[in-house]
Amino acid sequence: MIIRARAVVTMDRAPVENGAVAISGDRIVDVGKFPEVSAGYSGQEIIDLGEQVLLPGLINAHCHLDYTCLRGKIAPQESFTDWICAINAEKSKLLPQDYVTSINEGFAEAKRYGTTTIANLTAFPELVRQLPTAPIRTWWFAELIDVRSLDRANELVDRAVQLLESEGNYGLAPHALFTASKNLYQRCEEAGAGILVTTHLAESREEMEMFHDASGPLYEFLQSIGRDMGDCGHSTPLECFLRIRNSSTGRFFETQNENAWLLAHLNELTESDFELLKNMNAKFHVAHSPRSHDYFGHRRFPFERLRTIGFNVCLGTDSLASNTSLSLFAEMRAFQRNEPISPEEIFEMATVNAALALRQQNALGRVRPGFRADFVAIPCAESGDPFAEIVAFEGEVGWMMIDGQAVEPAPPFQAIL
Ligand SMILES: [Zn+2]
Repeated sequence: MIIRARAVVTMDRAPVENGAVAISGDRIVDVGKFPEVSAGYSGQEIIDLGEQVLLPGLINAHCHLDYTCLRGKIAPQESFTDWICAINAEKSKLLPQDYVTSINEGFAEAKRYGTTTIANLTAFPELVRQLPTAPIRTWWFAELIDVRSLDRANELVDRAVQLLESEGNYGLAPHALFTASKNLYQRCEEAGAGILVTTHLAESREEMEMFHDASGPLYEFLQSIGRDMGDCGHSTPLECFLRIRNSSTGRFFETQNENAWLLAHLNELTESDFELLKNMNAKFHVAHSPRSHDYFGHRRFPFERLRTIGFNVCLGTDSLASNTSLSLFAEMRAFQRNEPISPEEIFEMATVNAALALRQQNALGRVRPGFRADFVAIPCAESGDPFAEIVAFEGEVGWMMIDGQAVEPAPPFQAIL
């Protein structure tokens, strides 16, 4: 099959005007100018997308579909700790079936906004088997918390692996330093070379206050529920994280598995943290969620500094308990408001960079022969920068393809045989 569009954005070179891709099964086999591609594959079905630009499908690097049903339920709070209490109150009203509905509705919404791959954290890995096959490519991360049950780290990890391994693409997510024990982090990291790991790190001022000063609302809240606060008062969250990993691997500055960690947030870093990071060989992946970041009023995300030291920064939506939609186009626009980088670089964060974080740099995020046939098409004007138009695109996409299958919403294409 050949798909023609006014322009094809490959992420390998300038957008190809009057471009086309040839696909076979679930893979891309050729990309280039339409006359050349069609000459090489004569007799094939041709889908002409007309005046649209064809893009690689978008990849959401951080999301919690469990909480799709909490959209608009929690107004921005005075403190991060208040928000945690507010979401816990909302969660206490939900039943397993509500989470199933929430996840299904989240998938449908992400898809409508052109997301073809999602890294989704779920607190309920036992529900995954009750769901229909995910309509988009999904990495399931079991979100694990053992703050009230410190002797259960092994059991939690073993159970999560058992529940998710049949899904193929999966990982483990010790929730955060304040809710997951050192032992749990270490068990997750040691679970297996092919198992991705993600966590929330250095998100809020209160997390910094807790670990650095042994004070503040988050410290007090966690102390009140019986957490052992012995790890607080000495170091930054990043130092705590690195120390945990050091005691697991025996090496502080260099470990085997650095490139596996996808760290959500990293808003709160001190000058000494940056010094540490600069001196490490580790090049972590970072998931930044611009609109959720704005909702919480966190300190400015240190994008340029993280990028300069070689971190791979990706975009995510976070959950709808702190965001209004699952649109990565809206995330790209929110990011653009704060950072003076090109629309092309912003689009990389939602495609190429996120693919790398999921170790799919040879399969996803680009339109390139051998890669998966995951595409989105959006309207484009006669002239102008296609990347600027991509970032500016509002609404839902009209056509998309996942694994070589055109999927609903129904495509506005015409077959010209
Ligand atoms: Zn999150």
